[in-house]
Amino acid sequence: MKTYDVAIIGGGPAGSMLAKFIEPKGYKVALIDVRRLDEAYDGKGAIKSCGGMLAPDAQKLLKKYKIELPSELIDEVQPSFVKTIDVCAKLCRNYKRNYINVDREAFDRLLLKWVKADTYFGIRVSEIRKEDGFFVINNQFRAKFLVGADGATSKVRRTFFPEMKIRTYASIQDVLPEQTSQGYECFFDEKISDYYGWSLLKGGQTLVGFAIPEGRDAVQKFEAFKKANGFGKEIARQGTLILRPSFGHKIYAKENLFLIGEAGGYISPSSAEGISYAIKTAKILAESNFSLRRFKCKMLIIRLNLMYKNVKSFFMYCPLIRKWIMKASIFN
Ligand SMILES: Cc1cc2nc3c(=O)[nH]c(=O)nc-3n(C[C@H](O)[C@H](O)[C@H](O)COP(=O)(O)OP(=O)(O)OC[C@H]3O[C@@H](n4cnc5c(N)ncnc54)[C@H](O)[C@@H]3O)c2cc1C
Repeated sequence: MKTYDVAIIGGGPAGSMLAKFIEPKGYKVALIDVRRLDEAYDGKGAIKSCGGMLAPDAQKLLKKYKIELPSELIDEVQPSFVKTIDVCAKLCRNYKRNYINVDREAFDRLLLKWVKADTYFGIRVSEIRKEDGFFVINNQFRAKFLVGADGATSKVRRTFFPEMKIRTYASIQDVLPEQTSQGYECFFDEKISDYYGWSLLKGGQTLVGFAIPEGRDAVQKFEAFKKANGFGKEIARQGTLILRPSFGHKIYAKENLFLIGEAGGYISPSSAEGISYAIKTAKILAESNFSLRRFKCKMLIIRLNLMYKNVKSFFMYCPLIRKWIMKASIFN
């Protein structure tokens, strides 16, 4: 069994940035991910289902940490507005937004380029237990500190925080071979979900998806949405979960055990933007130096931010208020 000071489960933005931030502190770190993030993406194996839109908050953080995006990672299509469609109210408005449309797999690989930790890719963490003060992972690794950076479906969260209750949506995203979308579109449709759907152009194809409350009829609802809005047959379908923290979302951490990024439910409940939260929570944990008390204190800023985003969410997702805002062309 290999022994480490810190084991990070997940090599998405939360895990990779944490490894980068703690590098000067001299910990012996293992970063484990089920994805083959070491090889050029060949379309095979596990991929991260994502829109790959870098919101202004994420862009600011990349700038702050001097991470430049190479041109080959940036898509040819860069929408300057979000076409917002309220299906039930039959309203449509364009809202100016400054996103960067990137190849998400290539983005994750870019962040991992600076990681000097021992990386183990293509390994699914399926068993974790605590033994003699160490976390034992898959009977292969042991570590004093364990960090769950393993996203919405987090094994670390399910193992150590089974009591954590959080609104969970099935995220179904199809890849369509042709360019059906008009840049970046956002759909509100209460018949399908109390969250939202999207379509965007990426790599000459269209990604179309919807976050739908978990349930047996989620796929049926998604098909109905696609049909009603003129989206054709997919060449691939990706299914995963999206978490939506509530107003009073807590901080999940125990002695020597921390959740960061979406594993801890840190993601915007209004837009499902999660990359900036992944980077911010990684930075907070690194600055806390794995002290539980310091981590919980510093995470107050994230709690407050989630409260604010929940208030925003209320206005965005209340059909009457949204209709009024769109009709009055407020925020155009
Ligand atoms: C369809 C969709 C579209 C989205 N679009 C956007 C967007 O455009 N912009 C945005 O900012 N956010 C978007 N999000 C949210 C965003 O993808 C996440 O919030 C963000 O990636 C969280 O980063 P993370 O590092 O916490 O987790 P992730 O990026 O999910 O990384 C978790 C890592 O853990 C690994 N892993 C998981 N389980 C295991 C295991 N058992 N063993 C080993 N490894 C494991 C995974 O392979 C993955 O690499 C979207 C989400 C979805 C589902």
